[in-house]
Amino acid sequence: MTTIVNAKILTLDDSNPYIDNGYIIIDNGVIVDIGSGSPSKMEGEIIDAKNKYVMPGLINGHHHAYSSFARGSMFVADKYSNNFVEVLENVWWRLDKALTLESVKYSAYVMFIESIRNGVTTVLDHHASPYAAAGSLFAMREAADDVGIRSCLCYEVSDRDGDAILKEGIKENVDYINHCKKNNPEYGSGMFGMHASFTLSQKAMEECVSANSSTGAGYHVHVAEDIRDQYDCMKKYGKRLGQRLFDLGILKPNTVIGHGTYSSDHELEMYKEADITMLHNPESNMGNAVGVVNVNYLAKKGIRVGIGTDGYTSDILESIKVANVLLKHTAVDVNVGWPEIPDMLYKNNREVVNRTMGIKAGILEKGAMGDIIFMNYTPFTPLHADNYMAHILFGMTGRAVSTVIIGGKVIMKDFEIVAFDDKEIAAKSREVAQKIWDKIK
Ligand SMILES: [Zn+2]
Repeated sequence: MTTIVNAKILTLDDSNPYIDNGYIIIDNGVIVDIGSGSPSKMEGEIIDAKNKYVMPGLINGHHHAYSSFARGSMFVADKYSNNFVEVLENVWWRLDKALTLESVKYSAYVMFIESIRNGVTTVLDHHASPYAAAGSLFAMREAADDVGIRSCLCYEVSDRDGDAILKEGIKENVDYINHCKKNNPEYGSGMFGMHASFTLSQKAMEECVSANSSTGAGYHVHVAEDIRDQYDCMKKYGKRLGQRLFDLGILKPNTVIGHGTYSSDHELEMYKEADITMLHNPESNMGNAVGVVNVNYLAKKGIRVGIGTDGYTSDILESIKVANVLLKHTAVDVNVGWPEIPDMLYKNNREVVNRTMGIKAGILEKGAMGDIIFMNYTPFTPLHADNYMAHILFGMTGRAVSTVIIGGKVIMKDFEIVAFDDKEIAAKSREVAQKIWDKIK
């Protein structure tokens, strides 16, 4: 049992949004009591929040852990890329082909640690390591369990590297999904990952759907990140991406699609009808110069839009700030984005985790996971129930997260990781990353 006292609680629960001085009790990983004042009994580990602002742990809807190993590397900029497909060929597919199971695990460690430091307690990751596909999701899960973070993992299947690797990726997804069902599913679950339409032949897609038919898991796939994906689909199959996915039965309520930037109104209707979630990745989209999805338009259409960082950063609070200014900038309208922008992180990512992992997270109320972050934030303007979202959006940053608790367990306390030796992992990670860089020609 863990009892948090003296907390200014931003619950993100609309029915009880702010408790100025309150407590939270977590038992067996779940919030069993939350209220104002002091609890009637002080039980278990007592954590004094010392009047800090306390919020639910954040959720990252779309990430790529292996991208951690691109940081500072020379191969990221040693070739000229004319377009997004060439970015994949010149950067990401060179890196993912060099990965071994050891580097998959260490890149996952560092991404999960970076996530913790930025207050992220649940991550949906989309993984590729074509020459180390078998066992890759299991290796990442070991890292997640060591860190104590929640994860929803998938292997991004494609047939860009031939049939044997395609089949290995399909098997990895199915094996991992089934493994998670029996092994602490509230901490780790699996989805069926697919890279993107333009790297998946019809035969490959059909093999994926057939293999996933018995798991019940949703799909996690990149869609129309770049307009070439849409062109490729129309040229090869005579239909748009949304129609291709619909015809294969991939659009389900627990399916998530990354980006969806170039979607027609008809496709958006299909996504709404199928009740899928679209995941916006603003910094990645800007960095890859692939264009911008109009979040406001999608939300007005009634589509659930969540947010991810897509390997660009693990700081989701930074991404939500960028999403806000990017939307206003592209719309040339200062009035757009409220509440659509905060809803992506605080409502829709919560719904994604509920649908893909079967847990209630991203909210502080009875029955929700005991995932809590403390913010080192002293406002110099009034903060109350009606305006705290503006303080989160404009004032709080990932680096202000001082303490992270997941399932009642303290992972980081006063900016220090206390649950494991993060410095030893960082040192080993530098060795492993160097070995991978040396392989990339
Ligand atoms: Zn992605």
